[in-house]
Amino acid sequence: MNIAIDGPAGAGKSTIAKRLAAELGYVYVDTGAMYRAMAYYFLQNGIAAEDEEKIGAACGGVDVTIRYQDGEQRVILNGEDITGKIRTEEVGNMASATSVYPAVRTKLVELQRQLAKKADVIMDGRDIGTVVLPDAEVKIYLTASSKVRAKRRYDELVAKGEPCDMDTIERDIIERDERDKTRKVSPLRQADDAILLDTSALDIDGVVSKMKEIISARSQT
Ligand code: C5P
Repeated sequence: MNIAIDGPAGAGKSTIAKRLAAELGYVYVDTGAMYRAMAYYFLQNGIAAEDEEKIGAACGGVDVTIRYQDGEQRVILNGEDITGKIRTEEVGNMASATSVYPAVRTKLVELQRQLAKKADVIMDGRDIGTVVLPDAEVKIYLTASSKVRAKRRYDELVAKGEPCDMDTIERDIIERDERDKTRKVSPLRQADDAILLDTSALDIDGVVSKMKEIISARSQT
């Protein structure tokens, strides 16, 4: 059984998916990390987000793979483990700007489908229920208000000791949502058969227990 979780930035997808995967015995696949890995490569190589031609040409030479170490997903870029380097706002914004290109998406969607064939996965992203795994048995669209999402992202960055500003984060989140929802290829949207879960007023335990109810109801049908 595969479980698809989609939703905007900061809705809590990865935190929740990670918890659920550990509790229910699934493999967690964080697809955002793959777009971030590509973005990290473009940043490192001075390739501008607007330069679709260069990005398309670079895609052939970029090798992104996933490895699991103590149950944690590690992202390997051309042989180097870059997991600890990609969760910054700079890389997130670059990922959003470069994930609009078909060359980037085709490459990563293929990798994501291969992973889902090998194991029962909980996969999160923007187009999992609509494009990557349209036959997933359970689809959930997680969202929350932009204020709540900005506060969560802010707390996460502060905990890591990264300097940040709440208003800038909210502005970035709104801009990123807009770009993800309006792009031509695989825009962020709720799949017709996905269940909507607004997490604005819920804590992590609350979301996890609601998700378990949804998964168990779906797996009995
Ligand atoms: O979820 P995360 O913030 O790590 O994703 C970074 C960016 O990668 C998103 O803003 C989105 O543009 C892109 N992305 C995507 N499709 C996915 C996962 C992420 O386009 N399945």
